[in-house]
Amino acid sequence: MANPPKPWKAEYAKSGRSSCKTCKSPIDRDQLRLGKMVAATQFDGYMPMWNHAGCIFKKQNQIKSLDDVEGIDLLRWEDQKSIRKYVEDGSSTSTTVANSECAIEVSQTSRATCRHCSEKIMKGTVRVSTKAEGQGARGISWHHVNCFTTMSPSTSLEKISGWDSLSPQDKESLSAFSRKDTSKKTEDQVTSRSAKRKAVGSDEQKAKVSKSEKRNSAGKTSTNGSKDEPNHGDFSTIGLEKKLEEQSKLLWDIKDQLKIHVTTAELREMLEANGQDSTGSEYDLRDRWNRNHD
Ligand SMILES: [Zn+2]
Ligand SMILES: [Zn+2]
Repeated sequence: MANPPKPWKAEYAKSGRSSCKTCKSPIDRDQLRLGKMVAATQFDGYMPMWNHAGCIFKKQNQIKSLDDVEGIDLLRWEDQKSIRKYVEDGSSTSTTVANSECAIEVSQTSRATCRHCSEKIMKGTVRVSTKAEGQGARGISWHHVNCFTTMSPSTSLEKISGWDSLSPQDKESLSAFSRKDTSKKTEDQVTSRSAKRKAVGSDEQKAKVSKSEKRNSAGKTSTNGSKDEPNHGDFSTIGLEKKLEEQSKLLWDIKDQLKIHVTTAELREMLEANGQDSTGSEYDLRDRWNRNHD
């Protein structure tokens, strides 16, 4: 059997013939659809089970990672963003617990066990509790601080209730710890993305990038929005993001243009085909010409 492809495939419907596995209604041509790849029964290989993108987005935890989606790079930027947002929201809803549901404290006993790594949480170490919704005291589970930040990297320790009652030394070492953790994450992301770009960097792609760079410097006014950016430390990521966005927009500009022209050509063909029926107008023209030249 062929190698399994990525678990998901994203594309614009090539026809209006497929229907959504979730809501059973048809997927219109050119609508964004997401296909779950399944082993085909009719042939040796895999085939996508198509869904409206919107129907997938309504369900949680369908797409676990952007790397699971074949063809995402080829989508319009807005659609890339919506899938990215879905994946990011998904990973945070499954692990991030609302701050009000968490508490941080120094463990007074060694009885609790970390829910994440199943090791005992020793007396005197800082631990974080989380509470599962609607389960009262039974729903409380304990975590080592570093296990908690692994599980829920987007929750900032400073905002968890009980933080204020920690000793200054604990606060300092914990915030240093979480800062280091997040900065490392950003770096990893940047390197992996640029490595990926390098891997696909054909000459054609390079040309596109330099084109979009040129456009970028020409349209300086549009980049003034940078003061709205919440995080200046992330500047390199934002720069890369902007480039990818420009590149995608450029590509789709060309595709849209092409579509317009193809439609015009098709239209012209249709008009020419209809020319047989419009002999009347041709006759009219000749008639008019005749009258004017008599
Ligand atoms: Zn649907
Ligand atoms: Zn642990």
